Amino acid sequence: MEFAYDTDNIFAKILRGEIPNQTVFESDHALAFNDIEPQAKVHVLVIPKGPYVSLDHFARDASAEEQAGFFAAVSEVCRITGVEAGFRAIANTRTHGVQDVPHFHLHIIGGEQLGRMLQTP
Ligand code: AMP
Repeated sequence: MEFAYDTDNIFAKILRGEIPNQTVFESDHALAFNDIEPQAKVHVLVIPKGPYVSLDHFARDASAEEQAGFFAAVSEVCRITGVEAGFRAIANTRTHGVQDVPHFHLHIIGGEQLGRMLQTP
């Protein structure tokens, strides 16, 4: 599969500092920031700094160092946001997964009781 990365996507602009964000955590390999339309008390997006469009792109092509750095950031976000009681991690992907922003991001959602997993269209 071909993964074509669009450098004009909104998260690329955030990474370049062209659009502000509410940073929760940043490292060499990842940035985590609050979602602009939070779906729960905690709603953080964790993104790799590299140009990956989706979870399957990242899992296939990111280096071991980038992948470790990304998941270290996920761990930090869970610690910082205090979601010991649980959370949901979502990676919406392409059309069927209703992905709006074509830069891989993991939603970390929690801080309160969530509903069941999926809504039908
Ligand atoms: P997805 O459907 O998984 O691609 O979701 C994209 C998410 O990015 C949505 O939850 C939006 O609310 C969020 N979002 C869009 N623009 C921004 C922004 N400038 N800062 C923070 N979150 C954003």
